[in-house]
Amino acid sequence: MNILPNRLDRGFFRYQREFEDKALEVLRSGWYILGREVSSFEEEFAKYLDAKYCIGLANGLDALWIAFRILGIGNGDEVIVQGNTYIASVMGITINGAIPVFVEPDEYYNIDVEKIEEKITNRTKAILVVHLYGQASKMDKILDLTKKYNLRLIEDCAQSHGACFHQRKTGTIGDIGCFSFYPSKNLGAFGDGGAIVTNDEEIAKECRIFRNYGSEKRYYNKVVGANSRLDEIQAGLLRVRLSHLNELIEERIQLSNNYLANIHNPYIELPTVRKGATSVWHQFVIRTKKRDKLIEYLGNKGIGTLIHYPIPPHLSEAYRYLGIEKGSLPITEKYADEVLSIPLYNGMTDDEQQYVIDAINSFKS
Ligand SMILES: *Cc1c(COP(=O)(O)O)cnc(C)c1O
Repeated sequence: MNILPNRLDRGFFRYQREFEDKALEVLRSGWYILGREVSSFEEEFAKYLDAKYCIGLANGLDALWIAFRILGIGNGDEVIVQGNTYIASVMGITINGAIPVFVEPDEYYNIDVEKIEEKITNRTKAILVVHLYGQASKMDKILDLTKKYNLRLIEDCAQSHGACFHQRKTGTIGDIGCFSFYPSKNLGAFGDGGAIVTNDEEIAKECRIFRNYGSEKRYYNKVVGANSRLDEIQAGLLRVRLSHLNELIEERIQLSNNYLANIHNPYIELPTVRKGATSVWHQFVIRTKKRDKLIEYLGNKGIGTLIHYPIPPHLSEAYRYLGIEKGSLPITEKYADEVLSIPLYNGMTDDEQQYVIDAINSFKS
């Protein structure tokens, strides 16, 4: 059997008619940028999350850097973020000239809230919390800290559409929630897309202006903005996907529970979910000291795997200028050496999953 780490085609074919009808509807409408589909999607996604405002953008990275820009966080300001995130989280901080201050992750792969306070200085302006792999971070403790030190709280929800902490959806707990709709995300478009979500009317207004060259009224520009608009066709297709998001998440939870109940191998550490949090299982990430061997073993059986992520941002070439040495974030670096994402996708069959389970259980170092 041949099993890919992810299969976007399955997610398309399940709702093929709805997607194709919507695509044709938009193509035939004669209106392709900032129209009915975008405003309807913004309304529906805000409602889904229980947030007041949603502003569609071109991608998730834009959502991040525009969030920091609007909050006035830039040159020389420090932003606290977990060390083991996707590099886009960090670029969202540094594009504005701000400095990322890395904190080690906990056993749920999210920021270790016990290690944040020691990193706060008088230059700290914000915490960027990343709900990595689809699991909500420990937001109560983080909110306590942002109140105590008067910090802004931005959420990177690129992997966590629909995940909750204490029944509140990620993206609505901090000042700004940043979403990506890159095709492989749980709420994926058929191209790039992103959004900012907020309950703050002023932030929403500034963001709406910023994404369209800083203009509220055509050809009257208030600020130097960006071109970061969500396309009508992507918004329309996202509306279709959003209408099925809960069942898609439910399916991922079932698949993940099945892995959790049936993978037994002493060389492998399975993921866990924190009390009070939920995961939408963007990735199913195991950990093993025998990673190279396991990748080869599974590969020989036709099973593909991915590493999220092999090089932590502080050790990537792009961030050599920060001067953070190898060994300074031992847990982050250990995770980068040991994590492995095994196949998980909407439309994965029982046979496919059983094949993966049997292969992993038969692995001997
Ligand atoms: C995908 C992702 C992003 C960036 O989103 P794009 O739409 O690809 O720009 C940011 N942060 C995290 C954690 C991501 O997984």
